[in-house]
Amino acid sequence: MAETGAGRFAPSPSGRLHVGNLRTAVLAWLFARSTGRRFLIRVEDLDRARAGAEAEQLTELSALGIRSDSPVLRQSEQTDRYTAALDLLIARGLTYECFCTRRDVAEAASAPHARPGSYPGTCRDLGDGERARRRDGRRPALRLRSEVAAWVVEDVLAGRVSAPVDDIVLRRNDGVIAYNLAVVVDDAAQGIDQVVRGDDLLTAAPQQSHLASLLGLAAPSYAHVPLAVTAGGRRLAKRDGAVTLEDLAGQGCTAPAVLGIILSSLGLPCGSLDAALAAFDPGRLPRHPWVVDPATLSSTAVDPACKPSAPTDKVHP
Ligand code: GLU
Repeated sequence: MAETGAGRFAPSPSGRLHVGNLRTAVLAWLFARSTGRRFLIRVEDLDRARAGAEAEQLTELSALGIRSDSPVLRQSEQTDRYTAALDLLIARGLTYECFCTRRDVAEAASAPHARPGSYPGTCRDLGDGERARRRDGRRPALRLRSEVAAWVVEDVLAGRVSAPVDDIVLRRNDGVIAYNLAVVVDDAAQGIDQVVRGDDLLTAAPQQSHLASLLGLAAPSYAHVPLAVTAGGRRLAKRDGAVTLEDLAGQGCTAPAVLGIILSSLGLPCGSLDAALAAFDPGRLPRHPWVVDPATLSSTAVDPACKPSAPTDKVHP
């Protein structure tokens, strides 16, 4: 296929993927393929990595027919790229050291005029003496010295999204590169120009797009898709019941059947990824969260219309 950009799925290898994660992966694949893009998988293992989870997740994705067109990229192997990006921002005076603990930030953020969820700027303008004093015994985080109040992105599903640009952490005080910087650097380095992911990250998109512009990188297009939730409206989690491929296999629900459940939840033909691709239209996707009841999930695969097509020799013995 021609090199016309790429889409991606970028799981954190913290454990097995559940049906909500798998549905986002299916959507990312459909968006990429339906627009002639390559599809890449990136392992976001800077944080929250559990030994063995990467291999499990790749096997799970592969069982649904979702594979990376290029070797999987691991964030833990990209340190030089992140450092180069950080150095660029440091050289331009766009960073500052922050000595605040989580608690400091939470306390300052709850002050009467603070903007909820944003960094109150405590360390932004520390004098040299004060900074040296605070550095004593404490390793600082590095924050962006943001010079704009807000940034706007266009999302294929959500439309125009404006969000405040905060003085986000770029490097944590334990030395680990922060997610927001890593994701921007990786997307650009991998030629990713289409980001499809859960809508819990919608408000992070303007921040990331702004960071891309500071680094002279093209921002990708965005499509933030609805998440899977429980009947109570809470984001689906593995502890909610049988929601991973492994759990569902234990109930006799095979990977192709799970794919069928996912595709059917999207209003798409459920026989195969290719059949879904032929019918895929982002404008017709459900805009509300997918409500999953783990107790009945596997039985939703019983609908014959959603059964993956069986080989002919089994239908006519
Ligand atoms: N690694 C993030 C997650 O698993 C996704 C980040 C992204 O898609 O930008 O939630």
